[in-house]
Amino acid sequence: TYTSTLDDQLLDRLRGAVRGDLVRPGEPDYDEARKVYNAMHDRRPALVVRAVDTGDVIATVDFAREQHLPLAVRGGSHSVPGYGTCDDGVVLDLGRMRGIRVDPQARTAWVEGGCTWADVNHATHAFGLATTGGVVSSTGVGGLTTGGGMGYLARRYGLACDNLVSVDLVTADGSFLTCTDQQHSDLMWAVRGGGGNFGVVTSFAYRLHPVADILGGPTFFPLDGDVIRRYRELIAEADERLGALFVVGLGPPLPFLPERWHGRPLCGVVTCWTGPEEEDDRIRDRIASLGPVLGRLLERMPYPVINTLFDDLVPAGLHHYWKGAFTQGMPDGAIDALVEYGAGTPSIQSVTVVFPIDGACHRVAPQDTAFSYRDADYSIALSPTLTTREECEAQKPWVRAFHGALAPHSMEGGYVNFMDGDDQDRVQANYRDNHARLTGLKRRYDPENLFRLNHNIVP
Ligand code: FAD
Repeated sequence: TYTSTLDDQLLDRLRGAVRGDLVRPGEPDYDEARKVYNAMHDRRPALVVRAVDTGDVIATVDFAREQHLPLAVRGGSHSVPGYGTCDDGVVLDLGRMRGIRVDPQARTAWVEGGCTWADVNHATHAFGLATTGGVVSSTGVGGLTTGGGMGYLARRYGLACDNLVSVDLVTADGSFLTCTDQQHSDLMWAVRGGGGNFGVVTSFAYRLHPVADILGGPTFFPLDGDVIRRYRELIAEADERLGALFVVGLGPPLPFLPERWHGRPLCGVVTCWTGPEEEDDRIRDRIASLGPVLGRLLERMPYPVINTLFDDLVPAGLHHYWKGAFTQGMPDGAIDALVEYGAGTPSIQSVTVVFPIDGACHRVAPQDTAFSYRDADYSIALSPTLTTREECEAQKPWVRAFHGALAPHSMEGGYVNFMDGDDQDRVQANYRDNHARLTGLKRRYDPENLFRLNHNIVP
């Protein structure tokens, strides 16, 4: 069994400064406390601090810095490279910091750093409001927003980071800074895409939009390049109220999809139409015009529901390995790769997801946020997701070949939130021209690189 080498006296001091729990190796909660979403990462931290407030966050950041211990900051724990945990260091788990305050008049929500999108969608939906978030409700706001943040509302309202009004940030020296476009604006800029490199966000303030019920759900088609070409035309002409992800994978065992398609390669569009109900039929017909419909569930639903449709497919505890690519337009070569490698999808959970990120995402200049891919039209996530580690390892060559086939038709870097741990050498490409400014800010605010368990900007 693993025993921690942390000094008892030091730990007692930390315990006195923290209102949340400290969990150490050997304690009954330890195995639960060290778990992250992606089961590929079976790490053994020396200490897990389950923070309940900003005071706990400051105390833990100070402790890790003073003791020169690795520090993993965990929001929703969905990081595919497992950045929410570490061996022999400190895990700062924000999962109990889940408070939300919505001001419906100001159309703003203050969201604590450990919230998931399920928390946010629930709280804002009560007022018929929403903001751009992820498409699986258990994903954390923390990692998703600081990396950029794509979802159904991105074409209309921009990325999650574009909707930030302010953040409360605990920096490496333990300072607490409220950042906006007016104060500490350099850090505000960095947090919009720079990941967890600059500190721990204890609270995000998001701009909200009037989105209550939507027309949403999947429509499935045979896996055929012509369907993708028609989808490309659809996105090029559709107004921004149409959020529509393209998916490639194996037919899920859902009641509205005929059984003979279960487990067979197919593709689909997951629609989220935020326009008026009177236009629902037009949208349904337009989506159906992309190809022969194998099955669909396309109905009016509350906005939070569309973000739970994938939840049961990808519960915590599966084994993931991801790659990401950005494309300008959707070149025919990329379509060929989606069809060829999509046919070899290894499991129902391994869904290839194409996020359209035009519209409002393009109205921000590349240098205006750390996230710089304002000239990309699509962001593609490739993810072999399997039950066991061995199965996942065995599928790495598939996804690497898939990614390689997309590469000649993709932009140079990728979306940090769709990268895996072996993509650290691509960090500079991922941030393109913004990398130099990010490096300068990292030198200023985190010269010792305390926050290094992320797609790391080396000071
Ligand atoms: P964590 O593992 O907790 O953290 C990830 C990183 O962010 C770590 O480096 C951590 O230190 C840092 N971090 C977390 N919280 C904070 C905070 N409060 N302050 C500072 N740093 C913090 N991405 C999209 O854009 N759109 C999607 O629709 C989408 N869907 C996904 C679905 C699934 C099933 C999964 C596994 C991932 C998905 N992603 C999506 C990718 C997702 O954005 C990243 O995995 C993201 O890092 C998850 O954030 P988290 O807080 O859950 O993860």
